[in-house]
Amino acid sequence: KNVLDNLESEVRGYCRNFNPLFKSASGSLMVDSNDNQYIDFLAACGSLNYGHNDPDMSLSLKRHIDNNGITAGLDLYTSTKAEFLKSFNERILQPRKLNYRTQFTGPTGTNGVEAALKLARKVTGRHNVISFTNGFHGVTLGSLAATGNKYNRMGGNLSGVSRAPFEGYLDGGFDTADYLDQLLGDPSSGIEPPAAILFETVQGEGGLNAASPQWAQKIAEIAKRHGALLIIDDVQAGCGRTGSFFSFEPLGIEPDLVVLSKSISGYGLPMAIVLIKPEYDQWGPAEHNGTFRGNNHAFLTASVMLEKFWSDDSFSQEIAHKAEIVKHHLQRIAARVPGSMIKGRGMMQGVSVGNGKFASLVCCRAFEKGLIVETSGPHDEVIKVLAALTIPMNLLGRGLDIIEESALEIMQENGISRVVPISQPTPETIQKLPQRRHG
Ligand code: PMP
Repeated sequence: KNVLDNLESEVRGYCRNFNPLFKSASGSLMVDSNDNQYIDFLAACGSLNYGHNDPDMSLSLKRHIDNNGITAGLDLYTSTKAEFLKSFNERILQPRKLNYRTQFTGPTGTNGVEAALKLARKVTGRHNVISFTNGFHGVTLGSLAATGNKYNRMGGNLSGVSRAPFEGYLDGGFDTADYLDQLLGDPSSGIEPPAAILFETVQGEGGLNAASPQWAQKIAEIAKRHGALLIIDDVQAGCGRTGSFFSFEPLGIEPDLVVLSKSISGYGLPMAIVLIKPEYDQWGPAEHNGTFRGNNHAFLTASVMLEKFWSDDSFSQEIAHKAEIVKHHLQRIAARVPGSMIKGRGMMQGVSVGNGKFASLVCCRAFEKGLIVETSGPHDEVIKVLAALTIPMNLLGRGLDIIEESALEIMQENGISRVVPISQPTPETIQKLPQRRHG
């Protein structure tokens, strides 16, 4: 532990909130060096939708390695990549009547977002991009310009993006899509015509704000009418997280570009792709590149994931069932913590307790009780349940009980009968807590 504290950069984040030395993990349980077990409601920030070390993926990976299968392949043709593309087309795209070409980018979410932004700029010959309040798209400069988070932005000189209010951002039923439409239709609004409109259907880091079908459809129509490409960042909300494979399926929109990463390998291996409508696949050969576009181990486990979980709709039904359980539990918590509300959808839900320090205290207490759970939102005020989609019912129930017990204990110990909203000063015990760092 001392080695890690002394030798790793100060930039480390999650390990400050969850500080044991982890040594192994299986499914939804993590084990530390003292053999303590933890229920994992963080799932590597959504990159372990299918849990830790899925046995079928492990087995095929072991066989692949034993047979000297390709590991790093640049963008060379490999049988593993061909198998993934075929399976993705047959199991995901065709049944949904979607027609996309697949671009393999560098292996992180932000690599995918950068590629999508660059392509939209090339296709339209425009530079500006519209992104939304509280959106999170990664920390390389292009994606960071589209990201709202002040701490990550570092007050940097970021450009090329105009911010619009996400749905529900303004009080009084104000329609933020109409507002954007008006800005784009006014040559003197000061907003340059955009190459793209970029958004998350459920804002993962920004507080689990979920776009409604009406709003999403309006934004899609506005993008089309104003000559901008619609990019959905499905890095966190995709790969089954909200119940359907793509988060936008129930919204009735068909994006021009879709970015997937985090759970697309099924196994937590680095991989990212951009799905491109064929008419917009206007890249020149190697015009956008990157050494690690060919993680064949990830392609292999991704194919196993597609076959195991997406051959029919039974997994979607399982997710919907678990999502109901999560909602039910969170509603119970919300009923006991005044001023709180449920956010998100599918297996991407949480409870906003209206106050980041209180949410942090609850997460710290939950961790003492053996649950790894994080906060989200501009003030870290949302306790976010990001359990693996494969989590067994007993662990899901136990984890949710731990959140409830923790919230009630913290309220009792601090004599809180009402959680103080963000705008009011917080009690001293809560004030003393350090700000949690994640993302
Ligand atoms: N987009 C979204 C919606 C994300 O949640 C994240 C990561 N939290 C990213 C992009 C960036 O992904 P990465 O950290 O892999 O670069």
